[in-house]
Amino acid sequence: MDLLGLQWERIKENIQVEYDITGIAYNIWVKPLIYGGCKDNVVTIRIPNSSPEMLAYIEKNYSGFFQKAFSDLMQGDYSVEFILEENATEGMGSQELDDPRVEDSFVESHLNKKYRFENFVVGPNNVFAHSACLNVAEHPGEESNNPLFIYGGAGLGKTHLMTAIGNYLVENMGWSVLYVTSEEFTNEVIQAIRAGDNASMMRLREKYRNIDALLIDDIQFIIGKAATQEEFFHTFNALYQNGKAMVITSDKHPVHMKELDERFRSRFKSGLTVDIQPPEYETRVAILRRYADNFDYDMPDDIFYYIADHIKSNVRELEGAYNNMRIANVTDLETAKMVLKDTILSDGVDIITPAMILRGVAEYFNLDQEDITSKKRNAEYVRPRQIFMYLCRDMTDLTLKGVATLLDKKDHSTVLHGYNKINEEIQKDDELREKIEAIKNMIKTF
Ligand code: ADP
Ligand code: MG
Repeated sequence: MDLLGLQWERIKENIQVEYDITGIAYNIWVKPLIYGGCKDNVVTIRIPNSSPEMLAYIEKNYSGFFQKAFSDLMQGDYSVEFILEENATEGMGSQELDDPRVEDSFVESHLNKKYRFENFVVGPNNVFAHSACLNVAEHPGEESNNPLFIYGGAGLGKTHLMTAIGNYLVENMGWSVLYVTSEEFTNEVIQAIRAGDNASMMRLREKYRNIDALLIDDIQFIIGKAATQEEFFHTFNALYQNGKAMVITSDKHPVHMKELDERFRSRFKSGLTVDIQPPEYETRVAILRRYADNFDYDMPDDIFYYIADHIKSNVRELEGAYNNMRIANVTDLETAKMVLKDTILSDGVDIITPAMILRGVAEYFNLDQEDITSKKRNAEYVRPRQIFMYLCRDMTDLTLKGVATLLDKKDHSTVLHGYNKINEEIQKDDELREKIEAIKNMIKTF
């Protein structure tokens, strides 16, 4: 046996270290390779149990590494030739690759066609993210924007913008693009690992290596999943090295993603990171108007303003609110308020004030506001007054003393008594509890 043959296992291991090949990749692609001899500076490497597709893949991805290793070790110019091990089962892998469903999955981009640049409303909250995305669409895979990492809260347009890039690349540049959520990616990796054969893992890899752009949505879900992170890291590197474009979204900045593999953090940092913030009032109105244009269902201005005023943190809910108006064919503000009650409650960013509580309690019991804050001892006022005290403690940051001051009381013992009484009773009295809930819901719509 010649020197290369003797050093064969060491050569493979060195390649793994040198090129940072992950454990899984090494075991699947490199480790099984067999030294097949050397003649006229051409080294033959045999691939056992394999298929022509796999050969092509290994040739493309690993021949350079081997060539360099041989040339360094032998101090000369060496080249590499891969051959399929003779007893390899005929076309095992290729049969499976011929499966039309598998074929489909190569071309299927999973892009939602309705998310486009044309229907994305740009405001101060997303202007940087928007221009970063346009930049990727026009110059995909460039070092300065690759990967593009977009982060921000739920329903702020991350998926929309990312998909807009994908649609642009497919339609204008004929690129093959793949959109996947990190959960889908995780499931695919797990399935391939479960299948336990090289062909499954290879199919997965082929799928992710043979594209021009990869869009991974909500990357935060792969955190803590070691095997998936490993596989993604490998995919990432393969695409990155080949100048393919990558866009990643997350709910947080990479620095705030605890337990994210350090290697990712540095990779992400080398690209472009942008955030999306909740939209300002004007942008919220503009987004609603855009929906109105699209659906050709207009509403009076006061409904637009009401929605924009109350739904602040989430564009998806703005969209939901508009759709509710459209479906219920709402034309006046009062009906709009009714229809939107639940949506607005769940948005939950409004500040509740004692004045709102007073109004709510008075309206609910059909009393004058002054009667509730007065010192009158009539039974019909005492109860609502106690509920007012209770709700002030429950829905605001006011101290007992603060509530006492609002009611012009010198000390807070009455307030404490009122609060405790209601608090105890609602534990046992379902009817009272429901009443209180109804009042709270009403207050939140003010
Ligand atoms: P995220 O991925 O950040 O959770 P999405 O991209 O799914 O949010 O956006 C939620 C919904 O809001 C989508 O229907 C999207 O089209 C819409 N949307 C978000 N931002 C905008 C915007 N600036 N202009 C138009 N529609 C938007
Ligand atoms: Mg999303």
